[in-house]
Amino acid sequence: MSATTRNRKPPSTNHSSAASAHTSDSDGGAASIDPQVNERLAKEIQREFWFRLRQLPSKITRTTGPVALCLLSLWAVLIYTNHYGPLGYWAAFISRSTDYRRRFTETNFARKLYLDSPALNPYSLWRGVVVISVSTSCTYICIALLALRHELFHWKPELLEKYLVDAKTSFLGRLVPDSWLNHLFNIYESKHAKRTRDRIQDRDHRATDDQHELAQVVRCVARNLFASTFVVFVMWMALLQTGFESHDIVKPPRSFVPPVQILTWHLIGDTFYYFPHCIAHTPRGSKGIHHKVLPNFLADRLGNFLRNAHKTHHRSKANLAIAAWYCSVTEQVLFNLFPVMLGPVLTQVIADKTGTTKIWGTHLITLYVWLLAGTATSVLAHTGFRTSWNDPGKHDEHHEYAFGQHAVNFGTAGFWDTVLGTKGTKFIEGAKKWQQQRERQAALHIASSRTGIPLTREQKLVVEQPMVDYEWIDTRVED
Ligand SMILES: [Zn+2]
Ligand SMILES: [Zn+2]
Repeated sequence: MSATTRNRKPPSTNHSSAASAHTSDSDGGAASIDPQVNERLAKEIQREFWFRLRQLPSKITRTTGPVALCLLSLWAVLIYTNHYGPLGYWAAFISRSTDYRRRFTETNFARKLYLDSPALNPYSLWRGVVVISVSTSCTYICIALLALRHELFHWKPELLEKYLVDAKTSFLGRLVPDSWLNHLFNIYESKHAKRTRDRIQDRDHRATDDQHELAQVVRCVARNLFASTFVVFVMWMALLQTGFESHDIVKPPRSFVPPVQILTWHLIGDTFYYFPHCIAHTPRGSKGIHHKVLPNFLADRLGNFLRNAHKTHHRSKANLAIAAWYCSVTEQVLFNLFPVMLGPVLTQVIADKTGTTKIWGTHLITLYVWLLAGTATSVLAHTGFRTSWNDPGKHDEHHEYAFGQHAVNFGTAGFWDTVLGTKGTKFIEGAKKWQQQRERQAALHIASSRTGIPLTREQKLVVEQPMVDYEWIDTRVED
């Protein structure tokens, strides 16, 4: 079953046609009032300093990504902890984690599996493998499910109706007025509708139309999460060969080290993700960057191997958060894990060689934050819809033009895409239009409250106009 396009109506109104609407709706009986007054004032409001300042946070969050902002906040906490007295969270985490491990090893389950063996202690598998695997898997599942809830209404609208009836007839539900429950469900419904309008591509992921495909996605992601545990184990064993454990992990690293390390790891990750990914997207029979450095027969083989490994992930042109790690095990290891895990090991090795482990060594807290941030970024890049704090347009454009001459956006940080000219432009234009639409809507509401003139129906629904740019759609047959 192929992924379907949403077949939404082409935009019947654009900014200028909405602006020139002279027919008011029944609200306030404002047929005689010129709606252009609000339009003109809204334009002035958009130029006001305070209005622009209020739009700034969401603009910054969408541009930098929510994960980068979380990293900045953590950095702020670290600076505070280092200079103005420890908050104690990190030390408490270490001692509590040790306590949980001790309690777990005392269970029958752990004894039967020999997980209580003292031979395991020198390898610190608890903090090196268990904590990392569990926390990254939980991050993946939580974000994927949060993003999936918007698909629920489209996917199974009758389910929502059933939940409402169940809630009303439940013991607790009978104590709550029906009107309150209706209101709660309406909030969900209208929120969902809003998210559906914010979808960047005009198509649905195969898994939202086909439950067998969804089951396959879930099975594949579960297998990859499980396989990741083994790769985490290998990374941890590599780190144990270095001076990683020689410094006191309970003491947080110096404030200036994590940002520099994370930037370095981001660049290393971009390099080791960009090139195999770009080669995987080179159309069969075409010459890619790998043909410039390898003999033809080897380059062709490498291209075929990487293309085949990456094919599963691109089974659907549309994106779905839960399908972020819907890919072959080879891709999971080579594309999703290796580039992210290489940085921390490499910087630790360099620190050892230069005798600066105490200063530049990879710290456990930075490693945790980095791996969680990488997982969250991967899922957030596949949500498929814009919000005021997340814009996955870059990766949507990558999926839309996946295997063709117009394939773009192969990197994570965008460094190599910019240097080698493979950065797409459609997602930037789309984000700009989206932002303009929302700013105009906000300004119109302020204008209306200042003038006392009610907004027309068109003015109220500015952000509900379809945003899909029809030139965006790749009309080639899928696969
Ligand atoms: Zn790809
Ligand atoms: Zn993807």
